[in-house]
Amino acid sequence: MESRPTIAGAAPPAGRLDVDAAWRRLSAEQQAAIGVAAITAMLGDRGRSGGMLLPTGYEAAAVEGEALLAAAVARVLPDAWANHALPDLALLGIRTCRQCGCTDACGCPEPCCWVGAELCSGCLETGPGAVASAGSASVGSRP
Ligand SMILES: [Zn+2]
Ligand SMILES: [Zn+2]
Repeated sequence: MESRPTIAGAAPPAGRLDVDAAWRRLSAEQQAAIGVAAITAMLGDRGRSGGMLLPTGYEAAAVEGEALLAAAVARVLPDAWANHALPDLALLGIRTCRQCGCTDACGCPEPCCWVGAELCSGCLETGPGAVASAGSASVGSRP
């Protein structure tokens, strides 16, 4: 098996989908279909709420781009949602709770904070097994 560098330099933990590896397995044609749809959807989404001229056109770009993106991803990754595997945000350098998947920008419904390197307070309280593994990892707080 060839080794490949990842953004974070490590393979994702169990229960997480390695989107970087999935992307690398796609053909250039598949990558183009997804990339063009994603850019179109993003530009439409930002444009429709950004006070741009032709808001209907931006709305259309957002809706159509999202639909094309969803169809293209479903075509190439039909099992992406199998076993509830979350996309591994750590590969993008984003700190993520290893249990629930919350991040700094998207915390739990009940406000939480970091109680371990990859564990939030919401999961510490609900997961007795998590207490021991939290260890002496750095504790941080969220805004
Ligand atoms: Zn959590
Ligand atoms: Zn949380």
